[in-house]
Amino acid sequence: MSASVTLENVCKRYGEVEVLRGLDLHIPAGQTVALIGPSGSGKSTLLRLLMTLERPDAGRILIDGESMWTERRGSREVPARPAHLRRVRGRIGMVFQHFNLFPHMTALRNVAEAPRHVLGLGRDEAEQRAREYLDMVGLGDKLDRYPANLSGGQKQRVGIARALAMRPEVMLFDEVTSALDPELVGGVLEIMRELSARRTMTMIVVTHQMKFAERSSDRTLFFDGGRIVEDGPSAQVFGHPARARTRQFLEAVI
Ligand code: ADP
Ligand code: MG
Repeated sequence: MSASVTLENVCKRYGEVEVLRGLDLHIPAGQTVALIGPSGSGKSTLLRLLMTLERPDAGRILIDGESMWTERRGSREVPARPAHLRRVRGRIGMVFQHFNLFPHMTALRNVAEAPRHVLGLGRDEAEQRAREYLDMVGLGDKLDRYPANLSGGQKQRVGIARALAMRPEVMLFDEVTSALDPELVGGVLEIMRELSARRTMTMIVVTHQMKFAERSSDRTLFFDGGRIVEDGPSAQVFGHPARARTRQFLEAVI
């Protein structure tokens, strides 16, 4: 199952720095969106807001029309209680650049941990589920390996399996290939391509991999200075960017 994501005039600042300047955005359920733009333009901040790790200073974020930071009580809109936030957060998964696996746990246990302790599944069921997702990312034969005995690409695939095992409706990827040796990038992108093609989740992918953005996402957003400068079908943004700033960026990075 996938969910839509809506931002209404979302603003975020850190002290004097305005990081997101009134974002309006609607991502339909099942879409894969690539987020590109220069360093410091606010891409990670947007993902952290969607992950509920940060709270907007103004504006609203809605997951399938459900407001993240407020809830309805009778006819009133009141600040969200912890249970509401936990439930909304449960709809969203995130994979980071640095995989942060538990070093003292096998791949299987790394993936089974949250289904067991956050979702409350029994040990067998959690491990069954972990096996299913490790299989999906091509690590069905590495269940008992510890992170130290996996390559960077394999660790990142465990990171993806770990997020998938929570069955999120929206998945956020923040530069998940940036820390990998070049020859390991392709395998991770291939998994993301397959996930996107299944359309079982909404995906927002912050990436420096322009070929991935162009070929494997439905839509590309070019971010600069905390604003969406360009937003369109990926083939169009890469083939015929409408804005000079986008053209300039693409010429510099490709
Ligand atoms: P990107 O992911 O596009 O590189 P970020 O969202 O990480 O950009 O950062 C956008 C801006 O916000 C940068 O200027 C960064 O220095 C600033 N910033 C991000 N997080 C914090 C924070 N926790 N405290 C202060 N400034 C921050
Ligand atoms: Mg970032």
